[in-house]
Amino acid sequence: MEEASAQEIIDVHCHCFTGSAQAEQVNSGLARLRKAGLRHLAVMGLVNRSLNAQEVWKLIPEGFDNLGDPLFNEADFLLQFAQQNGELIFPLLDTRFLNSDAESFLQEHIERGFRGIKGLYLADDGNDLRVHSVPATFGISLKQYHDREWQIFAFAEANNLPVLYHMDVNRYGDVMRAILDDFPRLRINFPHFGIGRRAFGKILDRYPNVYTDIAFMLPHMQNNPASYADFISHYPDRVCFGSDALLYQPEIVFDYIKLVRSLKLSEKVENMVFSENPCRFLGLNA
Ligand SMILES: [Zn+2]
Repeated sequence: MEEASAQEIIDVHCHCFTGSAQAEQVNSGLARLRKAGLRHLAVMGLVNRSLNAQEVWKLIPEGFDNLGDPLFNEADFLLQFAQQNGELIFPLLDTRFLNSDAESFLQEHIERGFRGIKGLYLADDGNDLRVHSVPATFGISLKQYHDREWQIFAFAEANNLPVLYHMDVNRYGDVMRAILDDFPRLRINFPHFGIGRRAFGKILDRYPNVYTDIAFMLPHMQNNPASYADFISHYPDRVCFGSDALLYQPEIVFDYIKLVRSLKLSEKVENMVFSENPCRFLGLNA
C-alpha cells in the first residue's frame, strides 16, 4: 500500500519509451505517484530523423523495453501528454539521435514545449553503457561530435535550460572538465553519481553548477547504504532524486522513494534530495 504523503518529491530522471496506446496505464500510474507526493517528473523524449529500426538500438542500452514508437519518435506523444497533465511532466529533449544543425533543432523543440535537454557522451565504443559511439553511428569525426555537443551546451546555457548529461568521469574526466570550464553558468546533472563517486567528488568540489542523481543506482546503494548516505550528506545541495523509470513503470519510482527513505538521511537533507535540489536544477520555483 502507498500512503498519501505531504512530502514533495520531484524525479529528475525518467524516460518515455511509451505512446498513446499505453496512455491509460500511464495515467493510472501517475495518479498513484501524485498521491504519494510526486510533484514533477522530468521525462526525456527522443526524436529520430535519420536512423532506421535497427540502427536506433545502437544508441539504446540493453534492458529498456520500448512500448512506444519503434523508431523512437516520442516528442508528439510526450508533449501532448505533458500538456494534459498540467505541471506534472517536465519534458526534456533527448539529443542522442541529433544528426543535423543543433541550434535549429533545439530551438524548434523548445518552442514546441520541451523545457530542458538530455544528452549522452558516447565518443567511442568503450563507454560504460556498452552502446555504439555517436561518431561511428553517424559517420562523423570526434571533432564534429564535440562541436555538436558544445553547441548543445551553449544553447542550454544561453536559454537557461537544465541539461541531464550521462558521462563517465573515470573515462572522460578531461572532457567533463573542459565542458564545465567553458560553460560556468550551465546547470548540468551528470546522473548516477557521474559513474564513480571518488572521481566525481572532485568535480563537485570544483564546480558549483554541477548536480547528480541516484537513478539506476538502487542495487549499489542497497548494498552500501551508509557509504552513499555519507556521500549525499557531504554534498547535500547537489544530489537529486531520480529513478530511470520508463513512463509506464511507476513501481520503479516507488522503489526509489523507499530507497531514499531507507538511507536515514537527516530530514533536511532528505527534503533537499527529494525536492529542493531537483527544483534548483530544473529551474522551478520551490
Ligand atoms: Zn536514464
